[in-house]
Amino acid sequence: PLMLGLESSCDDTAAALVRGREVLASVVVGQSGLHAAFGGVVPEIAARAHAERLDLCVSQALQQAGVTLDEVDAIAVTAGPGLIGGVLSGVMTAKGLAAGTGKPLVGVNHLAGHALTPRLTDDLAFPYLMLLVSGGHCQFLVVHGPEDFTRLGGTIDDAPGEAFDKTARLLGLPQPGGPAVEAEAAQGDPARFRFPRPLLDRPGCDLSFSGLKTALLRERDRLVATQGGLFRRDRADLCAGFQAAVRDVLAEKTRRAVALYLTEAPAAPALAVAGGVAANGALREALRSVCDEAGLRFTAPPLALCTDNAAMIAYAGGALLMNGTRHDMTLAARPRWPLDSAAAPLIGSGR
Ligand code: ATP
Ligand code: FE
Repeated sequence: PLMLGLESSCDDTAAALVRGREVLASVVVGQSGLHAAFGGVVPEIAARAHAERLDLCVSQALQQAGVTLDEVDAIAVTAGPGLIGGVLSGVMTAKGLAAGTGKPLVGVNHLAGHALTPRLTDDLAFPYLMLLVSGGHCQFLVVHGPEDFTRLGGTIDDAPGEAFDKTARLLGLPQPGGPAVEAEAAQGDPARFRFPRPLLDRPGCDLSFSGLKTALLRERDRLVATQGGLFRRDRADLCAGFQAAVRDVLAEKTRRAVALYLTEAPAAPALAVAGGVAANGALREALRSVCDEAGLRFTAPPLALCTDNAAMIAYAGGALLMNGTRHDMTLAARPRWPLDSAAAPLIGSGR
């Protein structure tokens, strides 16, 4: 089906047109400029910007794809989880479009969008293992189908992307922190600072990143106190040590998630990563070798589809539609929506 997708759950306003696995248009308008002065995303500002920009994103996407709204088969929209004002803006816009055209409406879980994206660009069979690692999330999922996920574990505090961003802030590096920290780390010695590898002593696939951030802060303050500031070398070594700790923790927990996943005896075992942190070269390399060891295929969607976008929502919406899922004007916007609670009522109640 030809799907129009809308995404507005965080600080990117996006619209896309996707037919099957063909992305006809994908428009993403970021808001970093609007929030820069506040040191984080301001929900009210984000919601207002989404409400103002969604219509324009939709018409741009239609124009880029060279199709009219009439030709669209259904409208897919992120219905959660995310900042509620933004999610509401998207859901209201989608309802308006659906009511105006009489087309079906499909509410999509943002995390399902991320988790299904590898199938948009790769022939990946269910069930596959997914590591979703982004600015706001970190979890291991077994993806059995478009609406069938098992969560194996995830972070109990910060997401790794958030930790990269905070590290950059602590060291005076630019935002987003991930690419800046990775570039510094490439010049540094990962062995000089031995940062903790939290939760490795505990069974299971849960992760923690907040202690790492505290340890980094302590080392920085110690250096500043003893030598009056940070040298170039210090900054690079701190980044290298931090990145190595994140990589080691993610690699070891991935090993455990793989073991759990393999008990299902998948016919074509594979690990897919998604989310902005999947751009990290050191992490990719570590995950690839975990997969080589365990006999899994490793795959990662192109970066533009890893970070927030509406093509993933349109694609996931198409998969839901073909599954027979569609929603009506009672579709609720949900600030929280765990992926493995897909059975919870989507229609009607706002819970
Ligand atoms: P979510 O999708 O969970 O709501 P988000 O939209 O903020 O969160 P993404 O857009 O998927 O997350 O990813 C952004 C995050 O990825 C940022 O925290 C950024 O620092 C991180 N990131 C980007 N490139 C790299 C990199 N090379 N290494 C590590 N982290 C990176
Ligand atoms: Fe996201």
